[in-house]
Amino acid sequence: MTVGIPPLFETEVSCASCEACCCRLEVLLISDTGVPERYVAIDSRGGRTMARLDDGWCSALDRNTMKCMIYPNRPLICREFEMGDYDCTDERDRWKRGFLL
Ligand code: SF4
Ligand code: SF4
Repeated sequence: MTVGIPPLFETEVSCASCEACCCRLEVLLISDTGVPERYVAIDSRGGRTMARLDDGWCSALDRNTMKCMIYPNRPLICREFEMGDYDCTDERDRWKRGFLL
């Protein structure tokens, strides 16, 4: 007989129900994935990052859909940021706490 083992905890983490919290983080450009220059900021030491607008979100985020407008060319860091992993859930928690302050 096979007994279904329930998961230790349920997760509701989903990009579909998230306000792209991770797209407010600083994103260093450490390789060339073809990000259009208009979305790139250069700091005083020549470092390249995704530019962020005054609202804090990445300039390549569509404010209406909250989706990445350059998804096929998104930076390596964005590709490696995995939904549901520690950094993702931590960022979501920080975002929720911000609303409660
Ligand atoms: S990866 Fe995580 S933090 Fe980023 S949009 Fe998806 S659920 Fe939100
Ligand atoms: S490049 Fe796309 S995935 Fe990366 S932070 Fe900007 S909007 Fe988000």
